[in-house]
Amino acid sequence: MVGGALKHHFFEVDLYFMSIISKDISRAVELLNAEEVIAIPTETVYGLAGNIYSEKAIKAIFEIKKRPFYNPLIVHIASIDYLDKIVKHVPVKAKLLAENFWPGPLTLVLKKKDTIPDLITAGKNTVAVRVPNHPLSLKLLEQLSYPLGAPSANPFSTISPTKAEHVENYFINSIKMVIDGGPSKSGIESTIIGFVDDEPIIYRLGSIPLEAISKIVGNIKIINNQSETPEAPGMLERHYAPITNTILTDNLLKAISQHSERKLGILSFKSKIEGSNIKLQITLSENGNMKEAASNLYDALHKLDKADLDIIIAERLPDYGLGKSINDRLERATKL
Ligand code: AMP
Ligand code: MG
Repeated sequence: MVGGALKHHFFEVDLYFMSIISKDISRAVELLNAEEVIAIPTETVYGLAGNIYSEKAIKAIFEIKKRPFYNPLIVHIASIDYLDKIVKHVPVKAKLLAENFWPGPLTLVLKKKDTIPDLITAGKNTVAVRVPNHPLSLKLLEQLSYPLGAPSANPFSTISPTKAEHVENYFINSIKMVIDGGPSKSGIESTIIGFVDDEPIIYRLGSIPLEAISKIVGNIKIINNQSETPEAPGMLERHYAPITNTILTDNLLKAISQHSERKLGILSFKSKIEGSNIKLQITLSENGNMKEAASNLYDALHKLDKADLDIIIAERLPDYGLGKSINDRLERATKL
């Protein structure tokens, strides 16, 4: 009995040391102060974070993610009060947006101060900045004397992580810690807004619906860039992609009948579909609630991608509100 109990005890200790998931904020502070990279929870997706002034940490972020250096990082600050330390000039409409949506899933691209390292901004004279809305990350940022540079905590172009386990699966061998903040509530990346002559332009659709932004600043142009170089580098056509072949459709039943010979996975918005060849079906929101759909999106893609399917068929959402942002992600996830 004693032997058994001891064995059991060792087994538990083993498991404890194997996991990198933890809620220990003081350890997170120690690791970051030692120029290490850790993963942090945010309301959008989990981020791979490091001190923006540490060349070592920021280089490690790019290396761990295999992210190309032309793709700049978002700078995370503890509150709007830190904005003046990061940027040279805050247009009136940027201030309005920050006051309305921070802490929250809105990233502002503004003229950077000379003290912001080029590595963070991919050599651009602008910097992307936001205040994340997650209690643990805000607590962490308040204890640090520097902001955190953090892209999503996934290898370049793969499905974004919305749970600590997703990050652990990707990076158990390359980072020491993932702060466990539960599932990300918004579930898709931040909305990114840049400025030309102090007028806002949307560079990336995201967790804040377009309509909510227009309410604050009026009609707004969307670039939602598709190329590697211009205004929002990194807005690549293929992104957020499962390894399993994935297609996007307006007509689920038709697409299912066209692939009737194969082991199918279905990602539907709110409907449940019957079919003998459907091996796994995930419905994003049975009530048709887009917020719920967004928060479930990446976890659903992770699960479908692990289910040993021939093909994943994803259904396009209605093209308004968060549906528009989710469709943007699904389009990039299904680009060949
Ligand atoms: P993420 O991959 O979610 O970390 O978001 C980073 C994205 O923010 C990049 O891929 C760019 O699209 C955008 N971004 C970051 N910095 C800038 C900048 N200075 N100018 C324009 N877009 C930026
Ligand atoms: Mg990303």
